[in-house]
Amino acid sequence: MHELSTIYYVIDTVEKLAVENNLKEIGSITLEVGEVSGIVPDYLLDFWQYARKKTEMFQNTDLKIETVRAVTYCQDCKDTYPTIPQGKTCPYCGSGNTFLVTGNEYNIKEIEAC
Ligand SMILES: [Zn+2]
Repeated sequence: MHELSTIYYVIDTVEKLAVENNLKEIGSITLEVGEVSGIVPDYLLDFWQYARKKTEMFQNTDLKIETVRAVTYCQDCKDTYPTIPQGKTCPYCGSGNTFLVTGNEYNIKEIEAC
């Protein structure tokens, strides 16, 4: 259940930031989610609807989700390619000597005060 822990991470992080910056209410939070992170944006939004009602600060906060494209690097031809739909095999040279550069992470991109 990646999505629920992601929501708790968002709430924890933004709450700390809000306290540090003396914000009482948050207008919106923009979250970047990697294409191959295994996180389903629809589930995130569902959990958000549920979780925000339990806090005073996030009652009226919108959660916006932006997808980050997954990129893989080939160590043999030193080039990058889109992970979807190629996967772990380099489309240029057929090598499996590759690793994921971006697309497996999530992070908070932007927080907007009311
Ligand atoms: Zn290659």
